Amino acid sequence: MDELSELRDRLVSQQVEARGVRDPLVLAAMRTVPREKFVPDDLKEKAYEDSPLPIGARQTISQPYIVAFMVEALALEGGEKVLEIGAGSGYAAAVLSEIASEVFTIERIGQLAEKAAANLAAAGVANVHVRHADGTEGWAEEAPFDAILVSAGAPDVPKSLMRQLRIGGHMVVPVGSDLRAQELVRITRVDDSEFEREDLADVRFVPLIGKEGFEAEEEWEARSPRVVQSRPAVSVSLPSLIAKHGETFVKHRDADLDALLDRIGGARVVLIGEASHGTSEFYAMRAHITQELIERKRFNIVAVEADWPDAARIDHYVRHRGVPPSEWTAFARFPTWMWRNEETRAFVDWLHNRNATRASDRRAAFYGLDLYSLYTSVRAVIDYLETVDPDLAAVARQRYGCLTPWEADPAAYGRAALRGDYRKCERDVAHMLVELLRKRQEYTPKDGERFLDATQNAQLVANAEQYYRVMYYGSRASWNLRDSHMFDTLQNVLAFHGPQSKAVVWAHNSHIGDAAATEMGRRREHNIGQLCRQHFGGSSYHIGFGTNAGTVAAASFWDGPMEVMKVKPAHAQSYERLFHMTNAPGLLLPLRGKQGEELHDKLARPRLERAIGVIYRPDSELASHYFEAVLPRQFDEYIWIDQTCAIKPFAVAELQGLPDMYPFGL
Ligand code: SAH
Repeated sequence: MDELSELRDRLVSQQVEARGVRDPLVLAAMRTVPREKFVPDDLKEKAYEDSPLPIGARQTISQPYIVAFMVEALALEGGEKVLEIGAGSGYAAAVLSEIASEVFTIERIGQLAEKAAANLAAAGVANVHVRHADGTEGWAEEAPFDAILVSAGAPDVPKSLMRQLRIGGHMVVPVGSDLRAQELVRITRVDDSEFEREDLADVRFVPLIGKEGFEAEEEWEARSPRVVQSRPAVSVSLPSLIAKHGETFVKHRDADLDALLDRIGGARVVLIGEASHGTSEFYAMRAHITQELIERKRFNIVAVEADWPDAARIDHYVRHRGVPPSEWTAFARFPTWMWRNEETRAFVDWLHNRNATRASDRRAAFYGLDLYSLYTSVRAVIDYLETVDPDLAAVARQRYGCLTPWEADPAAYGRAALRGDYRKCERDVAHMLVELLRKRQEYTPKDGERFLDATQNAQLVANAEQYYRVMYYGSRASWNLRDSHMFDTLQNVLAFHGPQSKAVVWAHNSHIGDAAATEMGRRREHNIGQLCRQHFGGSSYHIGFGTNAGTVAAASFWDGPMEVMKVKPAHAQSYERLFHMTNAPGLLLPLRGKQGEELHDKLARPRLERAIGVIYRPDSELASHYFEAVLPRQFDEYIWIDQTCAIKPFAVAELQGLPDMYPFGL
């Protein structure tokens, strides 16, 4: 067997069969088609990797598994006439051509259509016809088709394609009204007018653009000024309505928060968002509000989108606690700037000094809600048990040993465990948690805080183990698991501090705004914001942030270095554009209650909203950073800061001189 067919064999067994594709025709086709002939020259060595790859013109060749999964869903038996929309590289068409007798594939971008035809010829495929056209209208002269595969995400199933499907035939198509994520759907034509629909999976495809698809981005951009002109009543008056109801400020430091504090009233949980993980003003304003909540409303918990053990270092410092949580460095992993910055330090120092003058039970605590610290949490549980129960520590070491080989890459554990190449550690980590919880009576009298710390770490290990396994299936399950973990952690710390406790939560807008009011809801994703709304009702207050332009600290890719990037001015169809048009440098806009019914109604029309995370890719901003939302249902309050700057990360040299117990020390 040559090297390439070995690679293909491995691809099929590890990426395709392991995930449950069983159809022998599909597996054989995947073993035969030379994928390397369909990727650009400079990416040839990645041809057999488990991912989509760029093929030029901002399009991608699909991940091998997804091609196999979709082709299997067509339930071909051999010899059919098949239509594909979105030829791209031609790879999926080549896979289809191994099973079907004739394949017709359409590509809307001329240069890709030519390339696909050339790739197919180079791979020796002779039964595929490539056409350069808008595929949403199908290929009427050749209809009906026994099966139709749509390789791009459609807003709705194109009607023309439904008409061109033979009775009894299947069409597989990603459907969803947002540009980034879709539901993979199988349509079966039952008779002339009846179609059945099944949901198969959540997927991410580039958009299907055309007459019965999305509008092209360029056309969308070009159209927006005309919309403003033709509907001045809406577009011009809405910003002034916002300005009328908003409380404006010039500098965020000088913003008067009295009215906001009144609106927050007796809420038990206040969730404060951010529209990026690297904007100075969001951090500073959030800290300012939090200080007021601690001082004036007796909030005693700050719970943030950071890993539990890292935040425990901060907690130890701000509450002047005796036993240090452990020796590791806090926030040493990517993205370090998210917490290692001057803005966070200013708040942490303030809390440290403020707490110093109070009895230990009146000090405000600092906790982490996130779950990316699998291995530091493992060590924290073992360290704790070493001091209270060395025998159980030995058991823990053995149980957690199951995860040890994967420290460098926990995602690889998830893959191996799923494929069955490696045993699942699920039972081990679950048992450890149960055993620890059983010791509550015995351990808590000695030090309840440390017991909470250990059990939270054990819980984190259990959830993170699951997280890395479900991650493999796609974004929805892992996102939901992570946000449920955050919510449960919040509940635990509130319970620990008793019925009078009150918490401020700091996390990205996408976590703290109600997911049901955004496209996340359609994808059946929930978040901590939605879970808090459901649980606390009016007693949780959600504050979102937004900005028009300026700079932001972010990376271009995961694990990449932090860069200070320019933030593009907000998209014409976004909420941000409306707020920018108020000309206010900053404003607080209350969204709850009846005070602005007209405004509320007008804002309740879905619009785009921007989310910048630790990654920012201005070049593909519309597709990667905008999502659809209904702002007044998402938040109770929106804070607008028109021009913003990147947060100020610590210089490494500065870290070296810090005292040992300072949480940000190296
Ligand atoms: N099947 C391809 C994956 C292509 S990605 C492969 O195996 O490589 C989706 C492709 O659909 C892109 O090349 C995009 O340009 C194309 N596309 C988007 N809208 C289209 C339309 N209306 N008609 C035809 N092709 C379209």
